[in-house]
Amino acid sequence: MAKTSRRLECNVAGDFFVDDSCIDCGACRWLAPQSFDREGEYAFVAHQPDDAVQTDAVLAALVACPVGAIGGGGRQVAEAARRFPLLWPGVPAGHGVYAVGFHSRDTFGAASWLIVRPGGNVLVDCPRYDGHLADRIDRLGGVHTLFLTHRDDVAGHERWADRFGAERILHAGDVADGTAMVERPIHGTDPIDLADDLRLLPVPGHTEGHLCLLYRDRYLFTGDHLAFANVPHGQPTGLIAFDRFCWYDWREQTASMARLAEQPFEWVFPGHGAPGYLSGEAMRADLVRLVAWMATRNLA
Ligand code: SF4
Repeated sequence: MAKTSRRLECNVAGDFFVDDSCIDCGACRWLAPQSFDREGEYAFVAHQPDDAVQTDAVLAALVACPVGAIGGGGRQVAEAARRFPLLWPGVPAGHGVYAVGFHSRDTFGAASWLIVRPGGNVLVDCPRYDGHLADRIDRLGGVHTLFLTHRDDVAGHERWADRFGAERILHAGDVADGTAMVERPIHGTDPIDLADDLRLLPVPGHTEGHLCLLYRDRYLFTGDHLAFANVPHGQPTGLIAFDRFCWYDWREQTASMARLAEQPFEWVFPGHGAPGYLSGEAMRADLVRLVAWMATRNLA
């Protein structure tokens, strides 16, 4: 847990603070954009919450923080932890898209998402393991499929798969020693319909075997392939690709991005950064803009 003795000086006065164990994963800044900002390589509390909504957002960030760098909250913290998995605002309850919270240090604080659906729940990427969180996921129907978008976000997959007897999906291009036992390695670059409402989309580029998952022709889970730019204290803006963090091939990632324009989706749920919504038409137009920008970047 965060230590007051290590509290960063840039925090504003008040109950909540960030200490110097912060790894700058950015999760707090999109979970509670009204309260957190960044200075140098640290997040800090720029504005103490002044209503219940802002307090809940800061507490959610505190629970999600992969290294326990956020302090404050007292007895409210345990209650905040029990709110995860958290139905994501703006998504109809019947569509069952939940933020799992409990981000892991081993995935550099990547978000994990839970899709609750009659055909079997899907856990997209791995949160850090917590037995009480697993019990709450169990009450939502458990995990039928553990969908691993790419090799960077697999940490802890054994424990989650064992807990629920889940089938793991990972592209063969991203399988390594620690994931050689995944039940369903994916080959090739053709989309695969896993069910009527679930389509797997290979999008090589960030890594050789990166995958996206399209749910209900509306919700796209994108790992590190595609995200929204975040504006401090504001709503996410345009689509982005992480050109400074492309580990495999930027040209392939650009081609993968162009193929995504053929898919219908209105929501993007990335591994890093805030989820965002655009109408289908606006999403496609912004994707076309992004692909054109990517083509101007001459990265290896
Ligand atoms: S969530 Fe934690 S580690 Fe990530 S930026 Fe915020 S304080 Fe730092």
